[in-house]
Amino acid sequence: MARATVDGCDRPCCTTKRLADIPPALTNDDWASYAPHLTKAHIRAILRRVALEALPLPPQLADDLAWFDWIIVNISGGKDSQAILDVVATEARRLGILDRVVAVHADLRDSEWDETIPLAKDWKGTADLAGRHAAAYGVRFIVVSRRTKDGKRQGLLEQIEERGMFPSSAARYCTSDQKRAPVRALITKLVDELGGPKSLGRPVRVLNVMGMRGAESCGRQKLKPFELDHGATSLTTRHVWRWLPIHSWTDEQVWDRIKASGVPYHPVYDHGLTRASCAFCVLASPCDLRKATRLWPAKAREVAALEGRIGHRLRVDLSAQQLVDELDAELAMRSA
Ligand code: SF4
Repeated sequence: MARATVDGCDRPCCTTKRLADIPPALTNDDWASYAPHLTKAHIRAILRRVALEALPLPPQLADDLAWFDWIIVNISGGKDSQAILDVVATEARRLGILDRVVAVHADLRDSEWDETIPLAKDWKGTADLAGRHAAAYGVRFIVVSRRTKDGKRQGLLEQIEERGMFPSSAARYCTSDQKRAPVRALITKLVDELGGPKSLGRPVRVLNVMGMRGAESCGRQKLKPFELDHGATSLTTRHVWRWLPIHSWTDEQVWDRIKASGVPYHPVYDHGLTRASCAFCVLASPCDLRKATRLWPAKAREVAALEGRIGHRLRVDLSAQQLVDELDAELAMRSA
């Protein structure tokens, strides 16, 4: 059985003695006798975790969005993020704190359903739709995207070409590099915008709201609906909490909420797709990928050409080239 590591260390003394066994307020000397092999970096990581876990919890969340200085709603343009925006903006308006809500769209550029594919009347692409969602609720809207070391914006397909491999469930760099990192950079800017902890006399409190639901996958079922985001939190400048307000919702509840809002939703759903994220998401179902290929053959061919250049497939069980070949065979049959 794989052992869970404790702050990067998988030696028995660390994996068998859990955090609860560790006496409080340890100094580095205490650590040296407790587990002599630990490096200073291990000790720093463990002490940081102990300190993070001791942070005061926010009050009951449902009544207390006002406890936070910033409420960041991650909106992809898809149905789940549209539902969370409705939930958060409705509550923030009731509390009179709509100005603290920022809707952020992580734009994956060459991987998103863009304006070149005429999906619906007035369609101008996913980022534009996300902006219209934010406008419908009267909240500030910011688009972020990945930047390379030399500061250039880089879409997901460009990044895949540079890395020479597609992401996968085991190596999901698309989410960490194209979404999480740019949103964290935005959090830094928003913290600065408030003048940081100096002006508030305490670390800035940030609520990062996301649309993951347990019904989507086993992995997502295990996510905690509310927790401190250790990676994004700094003890002295900002405390970042992650909230998944619709984690327990069904598809039906999501659609009911969207329909009741009257705000337009992403048109790919009316074309039979179940998800509206990257047009050729490496984690999409084969059925969705086949539908996406019929809907946007030019993008499917672009992804297939990329596979050819890097010698790596979109998925182990299904390549973009296969999707294109299937489509071509279908078209040839129809025209015969
Ligand atoms: S939609 Fe799929 S390919 Fe795109 S970032 Fe998310 S997991 Fe990666």
